[in-house]
Amino acid sequence: MTVRVRFAPSPTGALHIGGARTALFNWLFARKLGGKFILRIEDTDQQRSTLEANRAIFHGLEWLGLDWDEGPNVDGPLGPYYQTERLEIHQKHIDQLLKEGKAYYCFCSPEELEKKRQEAAARKEAPRYDGTCRKLAEAEIKQLAESGKRKVVRFLLPPTGDTIVSDLIRGEVVFKNELLDDFVIQKSDGFPTYNFACVIDDHTMEITHVIRGDDHLSNTPRQILLYLAFGWQPPKFAHIPMILGKDKARLSKRHGATSVIAYSDIGYLPEAVLNYIARLGWAHGDQEIFSREELIEKFSLKGVSKSSAIFDTDKLNWLNGKYIREILPERLIDLCEPLLIEAYGNHDLEYIKKVVLAFHDRLTLIPEIVPLSKFFFTDDFEYDQKALEKHFKTVNAKKIMETLKERLAKVEPFTKDKIEPVFKGLAQEMDLKLGMIIHPCRLALTGTLQSPPMYDVVEILGKKKVEERIERAIASL
Ligand code: GLU
Repeated sequence: MTVRVRFAPSPTGALHIGGARTALFNWLFARKLGGKFILRIEDTDQQRSTLEANRAIFHGLEWLGLDWDEGPNVDGPLGPYYQTERLEIHQKHIDQLLKEGKAYYCFCSPEELEKKRQEAAARKEAPRYDGTCRKLAEAEIKQLAESGKRKVVRFLLPPTGDTIVSDLIRGEVVFKNELLDDFVIQKSDGFPTYNFACVIDDHTMEITHVIRGDDHLSNTPRQILLYLAFGWQPPKFAHIPMILGKDKARLSKRHGATSVIAYSDIGYLPEAVLNYIARLGWAHGDQEIFSREELIEKFSLKGVSKSSAIFDTDKLNWLNGKYIREILPERLIDLCEPLLIEAYGNHDLEYIKKVVLAFHDRLTLIPEIVPLSKFFFTDDFEYDQKALEKHFKTVNAKKIMETLKERLAKVEPFTKDKIEPVFKGLAQEMDLKLGMIIHPCRLALTGTLQSPPMYDVVEILGKKKVEERIERAIASL
């Protein structure tokens, strides 16, 4: 049996972290077992589905490198892969259930249903459809339908007994049929409901495993009852735990960006986000860093936990910094160059390259390069006040800076291997710790005490700039 799994988003918004994690777990499961990963767009909610959201979902998946074997834009034998293009298939199965007496037309109006819901609430009962239309006679149905009364199709539920979901993550979960109600399978606009379309499509697309968020666990008994009504074998189910914010509330905008593409815009690398979301609810020992290949090799549903995962931005940032340090210099340059050009105008590309590389091991997020490297592109910076008190207001400061300026003027070529001995020599000569020279110099050149290594900064800025900045510092002493 070939494993066939699917990611079935509704195109009602961007691809969120939760959806991306569901897609990733399905993708890893398929890749590990040599199966197929199918993308199905569940767009039957006409009011909420948009083309833009559709594109955003593709974009998010592509950014993470989660390629699908069958789905939109990829041919497959069991398509179409947009749910709204499968309406005929759904209708055929609705007709079958109606014919077999396993479903029925319901003409109750939304107002009537609302009234019944309120009455049930007043009696402190769970709101369930009371079955008013279950026993309508053939002639009544015909007459109501002809009068144009709004109708839906409901599934006739077995009144008693249990439905057991044997979940690969949650274990056996028992649902009492009497607590479920005759749910709608076709809405008054003719579109199937999620629970119905999902079952028909999963079955006809030969899905073997349904891996999805555990907010869908309560839908599963209804879906299983539909499988049984058709005499089909249900797929295996695996419900993955919710993702919560640090405050234990369900992850939402309040916790920061939730759409995957927003993470790309903020400056995260896709491999860091992928690694991070893989660990949301899944573990392999206490390993934190996984390449894509390792994830495929090590992923298993056994490693998925039952309890909620906590989204921790600090950990994501830590991972992102780690991944940035690993990427090739060329890629870092490609990511940073447009940001620097946008912020500081067109500078010599060779210069930009050197600046970027000086920060390779100092970034947590790519856009941090812009403020951090400001002093490389503009003279318009202030000295850090505290550092100024400490390093410019010393008895030796003026002498140090003047001598340094003189010595550096003579360095040729102006490269760090020639620059370094100047600092070291001066420290020795003046019998000072090296820091006594480096700190005021760093402050003069960058305005702060945090920068890439001093000799790199001096070399990249170049002789003329260094001279000007030391002069500016001397003038302020
Ligand atoms: N369209 C549903 C959703 O986005 C799919 C749920 C499922 O995987 O069955 O939540």
